[in-house]
Order: sequence, then C-alpha cells, then structure tokens
Amino acid sequence: MFDKILIANRGEIALRVIRAAREMGIASVAVHSTADTDAMHVRMADESVCIGPPPGAESYLSIPAIIAACEVTGAQAIHPGYGFLSENANFVQIVEDHGLKFIGPTAEHIRIMGDKITAKDTMKKLGVPCVPGSDGGVPTLDEARKLGDEIGYPVIIKATAGGGGRGMKVAASADEMERAFLTARSEGKSVFGNDEVYIEKYLTTPRHIEIQVFGDGKGGAVHLGERDCSLQRRHQKVFEEAPGPCITAEERARIGKTCADAIANINYAGAGTIEFLYEDGEFFFIEMNTRLQVEHPVTEAIYGVDLVHEQIRVAEGLPMSFTQDDLVINGHAIEARINAEKLPEFAPRPGTISQFHAPGGLGVRMDSALYDGYKIPPHYDSLIGKLIVHGRDRESALSRLNRALGELIIDGVDTTIPLFHALLQEPDILSGNYSIHWLETWLESNPLE
Ligand code: ADP
Repeated sequence: MFDKILIANRGEIALRVIRAAREMGIASVAVHSTADTDAMHVRMADESVCIGPPPGAESYLSIPAIIAACEVTGAQAIHPGYGFLSENANFVQIVEDHGLKFIGPTAEHIRIMGDKITAKDTMKKLGVPCVPGSDGGVPTLDEARKLGDEIGYPVIIKATAGGGGRGMKVAASADEMERAFLTARSEGKSVFGNDEVYIEKYLTTPRHIEIQVFGDGKGGAVHLGERDCSLQRRHQKVFEEAPGPCITAEERARIGKTCADAIANINYAGAGTIEFLYEDGEFFFIEMNTRLQVEHPVTEAIYGVDLVHEQIRVAEGLPMSFTQDDLVINGHAIEARINAEKLPEFAPRPGTISQFHAPGGLGVRMDSALYDGYKIPPHYDSLIGKLIVHGRDRESALSRLNRALGELIIDGVDTTIPLFHALLQEPDILSGNYSIHWLETWLESNPLE
C-alpha cells in the first residue's frame, strides 16, 4: 500500500486526485511551477515542491524535476492526471526505472495506443469495429488520391501521432486531397514530430460515443458504459453526458463487452477510454485514451464509483473493488466544461477571479481549483471548472444543470457559462438530438455575446 503519492499535474484534476488519496489515507505531494505558487492544489496537498518556471515544458513536463520531487519527499507513486505527461510512455518507463509506481497503464500500452495507426491495427485484431480506411500509413499523395477514390469522399486525413483535435484534415472531394494531405502531414510533423498520416472515411453525421473501461492488469476487465461527447467545437468536447441519449441497453452491453474483452486480452491496467464514432446503429473505433478523461465524473455519478480510488488500488496491485455485475446505471449525469474564454470567439482570458461561488445541493458536483482572488496564469489550459449534475433521468439532470448554472458565480474573467445557458434553451439539446457537427453549425447562426 502507498503512504504517499505525487500528483504530476495542476488545477482541478490535481485536487481530484488529492481528494481520492486523502479518503484512502494516503498523503499527497503537489508539484507546481512558479506561476502556481498560490494555486489551490498546492494549498490542499500535504506537501508541495516547486519544479520550475511557468512554461509547462520547464515544469509540469520536466521529467527530472518530477522524479527528483518524488525522491525528496519519499512519494512512492505518481498520478499523472490528464494532459501533460499522462500519455508519455517514455516518462512511464523512467518512473518505473526509478523504482516508483506509475498510476496508470504500462509504457507499452501507452505506446501502442499513442500511435493511432498501431492502435487501430491492434483494436481491429482484438475484434473492435473500426472506421473504414487505409491499412496503416499512407506515404504519398498518389496513394492518398487512389485511396480517396476507393473509400469514397469525403475522407479525413489524420496524423498518426495527432491529438487534441490537431493534425486532422477533411477532404470533401478529390480536388481537396492535395491540400488536406499536405496540411495534415506538415501539422503532424510540426506539432507532434511525426509526419506519418492515414486515411479514414469521413462520417457525415456521427455521434462521439466513448466507452469507459477498467482493467486489473492481470486479464480482468470491466466496462462502465458510454459517454456521449458529441457536442464539440474544433474537435474539442464542450458538454458530455452519460448514458448516451441514443444508446440502448443492448447496444451498451454488446459494445461494452467487446471493449472489456479487448483490454482484458492485453492485460491492460487501470482506466482507459475507447472512443467511437456512432452512426446508424454502428460503432467505429477512432482512438483509445490511456488515462483518466476530463469527463470521467459523469460515469462516476451514474455508476456510483470513484475511478481515481480504483486507479490507485490497481496500481497497488489490489483487485478492482467491483465486478461487471456490480455496475448498474443509476440515473443520468451531464458535465459542462467551464473555460476562461471570451465568447463568441472562445479567446482565452486569464485574469483575476474577483468572486467565486460554487453551486451546491442534491446531485451537484463542482470540480474546480478556483477561489476568490485567484489569479489564473496565462500559461496553461483555459479549463477552470467542471460542473457535473446527476438526476434520476435526463430531464431532471437538465433542469438541475439549469438550476446549478444559475447559482454559479465566476466574476472577474469572461467564461463559457453563457454558452450553456443558451444551449439549455435549444430543443435539440433538450431532446438529445445532436451529432458532432451540431454545435459548430449552431454557433454559426447564434453569435454569442
Ligand atoms: P484527437 O486525438 O485529436 O482527439 P480523434 O481521432 O479522437 O482525435 O478525433 C476527434 C474528433 O474528430 C472526433 O470526436 C470527431 O468529432 C472527429 N473525427 C475523427 N475521425 C472522424 C471521422 N472518421 N469522421 C468524422 N469525424 C471524425
């Protein structure tokens, strides 16, 4: 059992992990940059270590600084949160080489799933349905053109190393292939250091449905149903819900079992998310995330489990605390991601929080590292809070979200809260009738103030 763990992250996710550790009787070590000296995760942890200057590359991504912080404090394990080093196989290897435990999957699993071509190939072999497309990488424009004709337009060209919505370009017709192919390649090269790309059929009106899986690392695995994350802007999630409004219990059981079996087969350890596009009753694998997701709380709400607690247990070598039969859905949950951004252009707006008041009451969870007087540093992601509501059914979750948004006060900076007020007036949102393109189309005709 661990006595002390280090959290290699900041913001709300660092608090999330500190809370789980404390409930398990484990001490926590926060690391922080000089821009985060006054951050809430530093205040809330049992100990803290400054690991470098503000830029992420010199602090939260500095492997030597993080390993040294473990050695100085005697932390036995590292929780990476999401983003930063959470899907860096090299980091995991170094952590293990130093006799520390990484709270997450093995370096090998992270490496396989971090390369989208290898991930797709692996999943295909494990019986997971994939988007039709090229068999592996497409090295030349001529081959890309040939494949475009074969698969049929529109197609999407994706960098195998891509992520966060970067390194993807759609070609609506053969005319657009050259531009899309070259742009995806150069973006792959400049942002991710790898210019290999592959091609997929571009699905026109799919939903983004992802399956939460959990493995014990010894061939045991379960699924915790789906999250619908179709409301996106620039391929980035904005609003997530579970269960998916359009997924039946039979579909959930079938795709869930396929996913759980796949990760059991490879002895996967810890939390993972298998992402699909869903169209006309069919699931198509796009990628796997080998970490805790931003939107994990909606799954926790409806299944009544603590996924971080479970991650720590499995890292300690203990069995999972639930079986598939224990996992029964109770109600409906929705998450709204609150960003410090100015609408309508979603421009990042760091600044000082003059007043913060979190909503409360039955079925309301606010995961945020804000406090009155907090200065949001300009160096990091603009996510400043996640409002998660849980109700008996979708309708009550929606009215609870409306009520909780009304109580939430974040003064001093612009936020995306008005977007959610506006979305809750929309019949399509209220009925759950939206695809991955709904939000961008809606934003074109609904300029937000
Ligand atoms: P990233 O790793 O950058 O998040 P993903 O492969 O997970 O990239 O895709 C992100 C989003 O891009 C999806 O949720 C979906 O909106 C869109 N997308 C990806 N592949 C396709 C496809 N084949 N057809 C249509 N949309 C796609």
